Amino acid sequence: MYEYTDIHLKDRNTFGIDAVARRLLEIEPGDSIPTVEGDFFVLGAGSDVVFVDDYAGTVVTLADRQVVTVDDNLVTAWGGMRMDALVQWCIDHGLYGLENLSAIPGTVGAGAVQNVGAYGVEAKDVIERVEAYDLRECCLRTLSNADCRFGYRHSLFKELPGRYLVLRVAFRLRTVFVPNLSYKALANLPHATAAELRQAIADLRWQKLPRPEEHGSAGSFFKNPVVTETVYLALREQFPDMPEAHASEGGYKLSAGWLIDRAGWKGRTQGGAGVWPTNALVLYNTGGCTGSDVVALARAIQQDVLDKFQIPLTPEAIII
Ligand SMILES: Cc1cc2nc3c(=O)[nH]c(=O)nc-3n(C[C@H](O)[C@H](O)[C@H](O)COP(=O)(O)OP(=O)(O)OC[C@H]3O[C@@H](n4cnc5c(N)ncnc54)[C@H](O)[C@@H]3O)c2cc1C
Repeated sequence: MYEYTDIHLKDRNTFGIDAVARRLLEIEPGDSIPTVEGDFFVLGAGSDVVFVDDYAGTVVTLADRQVVTVDDNLVTAWGGMRMDALVQWCIDHGLYGLENLSAIPGTVGAGAVQNVGAYGVEAKDVIERVEAYDLRECCLRTLSNADCRFGYRHSLFKELPGRYLVLRVAFRLRTVFVPNLSYKALANLPHATAAELRQAIADLRWQKLPRPEEHGSAGSFFKNPVVTETVYLALREQFPDMPEAHASEGGYKLSAGWLIDRAGWKGRTQGGAGVWPTNALVLYNTGGCTGSDVVALARAIQQDVLDKFQIPLTPEAIII
C-alpha cells in the first residue's frame, strides 16, 4: 500500500481538474484494508467525478493492476483494473459478453458501483457477484447480483456511499461469441468478430465523445430522466421532434441530450467549461476549468431545462 500526502489529483480525474487531497491511500491487490479515520472518499479512475474543492480527508483508491482469474467462464477481476483492459483481456482469452462496454475509461470496481452501460449492455447483465470490503463492519462480503440492487447507473453501493470498497467483480461470460447488436448503429455488423465489434464501438464512441487525452470530461454528465407515460405523451405533443422513448425502468427514458440541445446549450461555453459541440449531454473542460465552472454550467442547464420542459435533470457525475 502506498500513502501520499497533499497530493494533486489532476492526473487522477478525466476532467483534468486540479484539487489537492490531504492524504491518498493506494491499495495493492493482496493488501489488508486499513481502517481509515475521518472523512474518506473512494476514487477509481476519476472518470465520473468533479472535484469542486480540495479534499481535506483521505482518498482511498485501488492500484491499477491487471489481476484476473478464470474459473470456467466466470472471470474475476481486481477492482482497480481498467474496465477497458478487462474487455480486451476477455476477448484475447475467448470470453465474450463485455465487448459493448469497450473504451469506458473507468475501473472494474466502479463499473459495478455505477452499473456502467453502453450500446445495449449494462454491467449488471454479466455481473455474477461482487466482493467488497465492508468499511463499517471491517469485513469482506460477497454480494450476489440481486444483492447489488442494480438499476440505471445505480447500485446498492450508491445507496450506501462510503460503506463498501469494491475489491473484485466476477463476470459470467460466454465461450461462444454472439454479438449484441441491439444498438441501432451496430445492426449492420452481424458477421463481426468480437475484436471488430470492439473496434466499431470505440469508433462510434469517439465520434460522439471527447477523447479524455484531448478534452477533459466525465462522459455523459446527466442521467436520462425517466418520466411517466402522461408526462412523456404531453411533451411529445408539445415537441413533436422529440426522440421517441420506450417504456423501461418503470417509465419512459427521455434523451437528456436532446432536452439540453433543444434548450440551446450545445456548443456553448461558460467560464472554463463547455457543452460538447456534437453531444449536448457532455460537459467538458475548455482549458483550465475548475470544478466550480462545471457545477455553475450544470446548474444553469438544469434550471433552463426545468423552465422550458418542467423536467429536472440529475447529474450522473459525482460532485465532490
Ligand atoms: C469519455 C468518457 C466516456 C464515458 N462513457 C461511459 C459510458 O459509456 N457508460 C457509462 O456508464 N459511463 C461512462 N463514463 C463514466 C465513467 O467512466 C463510469 O461511470 C465509470 O464506471 C467510472 O469509473 P471510475 O473508476 O473512473 O470511477 P470514479 O469516477 O473514480 O468514481 C465513480 C464512483 O464510484 C465510486 N467508486 C469507484 N471505485 C470504487 C470502488 N472500488 N469501490 C467502491 N466505490 C468506488 C466512487 O466513490 C464514485 O462514487 C464515461 C466517462 C468518460 C470520461
